[in-house]
Amino acid sequence: MHQVLESEHQAAASSQPAIAVEQLDHFFGSGALRKQVLFDINLAIAAGEIVILTGPSGSGKTTLLSLMGGLRSPQAGSLRILGTELVGAAKNIAVEARRFCGYIFQAHNLHSSLTAQENVMMGLEVHGTYSRAARRDRAVEILAEVGLDDRTQYYPENLSGGQKQRVAIARALVSHPKIVLADEPTAALDKQSGRDVVNLMQKLAKEQGCTILMVTHDNRILDVADRIIYMEDGLLKPTSELST
Ligand code: ADP
Ligand code: MG
Repeated sequence: MHQVLESEHQAAASSQPAIAVEQLDHFFGSGALRKQVLFDINLAIAAGEIVILTGPSGSGKTTLLSLMGGLRSPQAGSLRILGTELVGAAKNIAVEARRFCGYIFQAHNLHSSLTAQENVMMGLEVHGTYSRAARRDRAVEILAEVGLDDRTQYYPENLSGGQKQRVAIARALVSHPKIVLADEPTAALDKQSGRDVVNLMQKLAKEQGCTILMVTHDNRILDVADRIIYMEDGLLKPTSELST
């Protein structure tokens, strides 16, 4: 009896989308300056899916990602990350959800006073469960995976743009997040570095079985996506309308 319930529970958990958004609106400002930037967003992303989000500048892509990543509080509608509702959630719930997500920014956001290895170790700090030695070992390991085993002690100023972005990816993935949110991760990179960075994200994501939502304008990397979605003026447009 107990076992039946358990397996039903597991089945339900595996079929649930990694990210589920329903009727999500978002506003910036207040009073006369209040401005709606997201309108009735509906979106479900399955576990393990790689989705690319495109659309013009100012259309609301970063806002949507920051809500999903728990960097901003959602106001209205429903936003569930791995089944946890973030709209109206207590602060500790949002913090918990943030732990499931790795966030990669357009500008790598590394700490300039920390080495590559120390920056990656920061990616494990929020978890609080690893000793310093364990964090160091995992950082060194994943830096080797992104091809930076000979750069672990370098400071960001002594790394190229592509290398810095690889450190940022290592930092986002070192904790094996269930979801990776990447906001224009190749924008500052040349063609080859951009391709390398995306291949790497794809490889690590497949290995770790995580879900990726990536904002990009880079036509050269669209092929990594299982699905491409398009946003304009705060609205998600059906892909069938794309050609019109
Ligand atoms: P995108 O990432 O697609 O370029 P954003 O999500 O950054 O778009 O911005 C969507 C809209 O929200 C824009 O009109 C932008 O000016 C506005 N916006 C973004 N962040 C803020 C903020 N912190 N305060 C007020 N308005 C903002
Ligand atoms: Mg943006």
